[in-house]
Amino acid sequence: MKLFCNCCGKEILTKENSQIALEDYVVIEKSWGYFSKKDGIRQKMIICESCFESWTGSFARPLQEMEEQELL
Ligand SMILES: [Zn+2]
Repeated sequence: MKLFCNCCGKEILTKENSQIALEDYVVIEKSWGYFSKKDGIRQKMIICESCFESWTGSFARPLQEMEEQELL
């Protein structure tokens, strides 16, 4: 199954005939609860690094950032 960025629509590069991604991307999944207008709905999105940078760069408050202790 091919992966696409939900924001810009570009395909996330994967190793040929596999699902191993050759670039990093963000996955956000949300199961909406009782006090939302989407109660019982589950949503998932994939965002490429470039879209993530422009999107979060528009936020009023910067993201929390910390160093990974162990790089995989
Ligand atoms: Zn994108």
